[in-house]
Order: sequence, then structure tokens, then C-alpha cells
Amino acid sequence: MAFINDNYQKLPGSYLFSEIAKRVATFQSKNPSAKIIRLGIGDVTQPLPRVCIDAMKHAVDEMSSAETFRGYGPEQGYEFLRDKIADYNYKRRGLNVDIDEIFISDGSKCDCGNIQEIFGLNNKIAIADPVYPVYLDTNVMAGRTGELQSDGHFEGVVYLPCISENGFSPSIPTEHVDLIYLCSPNNPTGTTLSKDALEMWVDYAKANDSIILYDSAYAAYITEDDVPRSIYEVDGARDCAIEFRSFSKTAGFTGTRCGYVVIPRELTGANHHGERVPLKNLWLRRQTTKFNGTAYIVQRGAEAIYSEEGQSQVKELIGYYMENAKIIREGLNEVGLQAYGGVNAPYIWLKTPNGMKSWDFFDKLLNEVNVVGTPGAGFGPCGEGYFRLTSFGDRNNTIEAMNRIKSNLNI
Ligand SMILES: *Cc1c(COP(=O)(O)O)cnc(C)c1O
Repeated sequence: MAFINDNYQKLPGSYLFSEIAKRVATFQSKNPSAKIIRLGIGDVTQPLPRVCIDAMKHAVDEMSSAETFRGYGPEQGYEFLRDKIADYNYKRRGLNVDIDEIFISDGSKCDCGNIQEIFGLNNKIAIADPVYPVYLDTNVMAGRTGELQSDGHFEGVVYLPCISENGFSPSIPTEHVDLIYLCSPNNPTGTTLSKDALEMWVDYAKANDSIILYDSAYAAYITEDDVPRSIYEVDGARDCAIEFRSFSKTAGFTGTRCGYVVIPRELTGANHHGERVPLKNLWLRRQTTKFNGTAYIVQRGAEAIYSEEGQSQVKELIGYYMENAKIIREGLNEVGLQAYGGVNAPYIWLKTPNGMKSWDFFDKLLNEVNVVGTPGAGFGPCGEGYFRLTSFGDRNNTIEAMNRIKSNLNI
């Protein structure tokens, strides 16, 4: 008999997006003429920057001749790409990250999900709530949690509430934790952690010998100068933090696939003898065993954003989404809905009116104005009573959706 990994059965079905699809389909079949606008979408919609297309076309041509053909690439990714990342995202911002500390991957979801493999099962984990579900689910699969309880929490996990009352900036846990997952700019709340908040977390991690797993997939969306783009802007973070970044939201690579992890060389964990082991070495071992690199063509495409022209094209792309974000945020404010985020992130997080449940607000929005969003409860227990709208849609649809909300939503 082949036994399964029982931990998988602790996970509830991926209820969120299938339930949304089901409710939308039911509504559309009853109202065939309704023009539904989707502002729930968590994927980019605009084409890749021209520089990326040109670079990838050139790379494809290189593959057609034996002299320039590339097979398996270097373990951590091509140096041409790691050089540019270290330069543009770190050195130019006064941060010290070397290319041997950068690991190129085929996206951040796998990195955020796989990183837990290099840590022992006895680590206590703390996870922001609400947040991107990958951190929690991969720890459940690995057996680092108990069962799902009736209050929506997994046994053995420390949840870090991010709610309007604390400005969506979680407090330090009252108990000891070993691994801390933070996401800033946050998906789904669209809010960011300040320099002070990150300093507090770095202090905690250093005092408790913990590791911070810092997901900054949306760093490129930060518009305010005083918001940290990287955790390494905080002194001491190199001793306690791993950073995840992605080209997905930065440059429209959700279907093209490229991301990276930064693991500073001084970062270590303890083995069961209490000896310190560099985490970077463990991650290299893991990746060289289970991963064979991101396509050369794709790495050339990613590299292309690091030029003057590339940077300006990426800025324009992000500017398009951020203009949508502004339209949504201002529209919600106009009708008196409390909205957060949307300034340094493509997500707008609104508080449902009159304490409505997230799913009730979903139905209301769908029924009254034919607009689809994402119920906050789908991102963690503290997401209940909130609702996510995204700015990844098309401009005209975004404007139309907000006009409908302004004229027809019954609040
Ligand atoms: C989209 C997203 C990612 C990146 O996913 P990719 O696998 O790189 O496409 C990572 N973290 C968060 C919070 C995200 O929303």
C-alpha cells in the first residue's frame, strides 16, 4: 500500500477561487446580459516591456547555432543577471548584496514555498494574517503545524494579526518563534511595513536567534521614499533575514517565470549539535538537487529591465497599474468606504460596510454593480470583514467599475 503524506489532508480545499468562480457563473447564468467586471484578479494583464521581448528574441536566435547555444546554466543563475540585480536593486541603493548571495529561480512562489525545507520541523513559525497563503500551506504540508481548528487557525502556528487597529503592521509575538514570514508590500492588504517596524522585527530576530523570511515581490510598486524596498535597509538584517523577489509583478513575468532569493553569507541556523551552518549552503544543496535553473532565454529577458530604457519601461508599466489603484482608492473614499493600500502596492483593501462578512460583501458587489473582488477571509482569519480589489485590470473597466460603485452600490 502506498501511504500518502497525511499533512495534505489537514489543508482545506482551495476553496477561495473556485467558490468565486462558482458564484460568478451562477450569477451570469441568471443574468446573461450583465457585463461583469473583474477586479479580483491577482495577475498582471499588460504585455511584457519591449526590452524584454527583444532580449528574449535575441536569446532564442542564440539557441539556433552551436556557437551560442546554451545547455544547463550555472547553478545560481547566470552572472549577467545576478550582477545586474546586485547593482540595480542593492548597490545603487547603498546595500551590500553580492552575486554569490543571489539565487535565480523560476519565480517566487516556489522559493517562498520551498525555503522551509532547509529548516527543521521543530521550528515555531509566525505568519502575518492575512497574507499570501503559500507560507502557511507549505508549512502545513511539511508537518510543521497541527490540525486546522474551528476558529480558522492551524494549531501550533503563531498568527500575526494585520488589522486596521494596528495599521496592518503586526506586533512582536509574546512567545518565542524561530521563523517569521513577513510580506511588504503585503498581498492582500496593499500596505507596507515602515523602517521602524522592520527594525523592531530585526531586533526581535537577533535577540531570539530567529530568521525572517521577507517577501518583497511588490517592491517595485513602492512610490513613497521612506518605505523600505528591502529588509537589508535595516542594519543587522543580513544576520537574520532572507529576501524573496520576483519579476512577475515588477515586469509582467507571471507567465514567463523568473524570481530570486537573497541569502546573505553570514546567515546561519543551528544543527542538532548546536553548531552553526550557513543557510546559503543548504539552499544551494537543495536547489542543485531539485531544480535545474531558469531558462537562459528568460534570464536574458529579466536582465533587460536593468538598463535605462528597461527601467523606464518598467516604470511605465507599474505606473499604469498604480493609476488604476488611485482610481479605485479615491472612488472608494468618495462613497465613504474605508480603503487601505493602493499607494505602494497594486492592492486596495477595503473594510466592508457595517461589519458585513467578506463573502456577503462579495455577493452584494456582484449583485448590485456586477463587480467581482476577493473576500478578505480567503487570506486568513484576520481578513474577515475586509475585501480586496486589485489594480491589474484594464483602465476602462476599472473606471467603469468605480462609476458603478459610486452610482449604484447601496451602502
Ligand atoms: C505574486 C506573488 C509572488 C510571486 O509569485 P511568482 O511565483 O514569482 O509569480 C510572491 N509573493 C507574493 C506575495 C505574491 O503576491
